[in-house]
Amino acid sequence: MVVPRHWREREHRYRLVATKCKICGRIYFPPRSVCPNCGRKSIGNMEKLQLSGNGTVYTYTIVHSGMNAFKLQKPYILAIIELEEGPRVTGQIVDAEPNEVYIGMPVRMVFRRIRQEGASGIIHYGYKFAPR
Ligand SMILES: [Zn+2]
Repeated sequence: MVVPRHWREREHRYRLVATKCKICGRIYFPPRSVCPNCGRKSIGNMEKLQLSGNGTVYTYTIVHSGMNAFKLQKPYILAIIELEEGPRVTGQIVDAEPNEVYIGMPVRMVFRRIRQEGASGIIHYGYKFAPR
């Protein structure tokens, strides 16, 4: 039986669980079971770490996605967020206009709908970032 990809990835997508290498202290998100910095020594030395979800905007871009089948879509903000714990993640910024975003802006993780498959399909949720 094949476990769907979105199910396997559920834990870190929904709860921002990272892993931390006990040897060198580096934090990985998405989580890794082996630390690339320490190699084989890190096997069995990776511990789970719950991230706070707070971070700041490291860099961002305004995406003009153009038209889909139904309507002209609003531009949206795609940013690289530096989390408090150190890892950087890419995510959409919501609840802010493009001209309100700046590098260093404090943000927090929020759960939002990402996409829906088909008219009555499965709705996928994931994290985005909002001003805090
Ligand atoms: Zn390490």
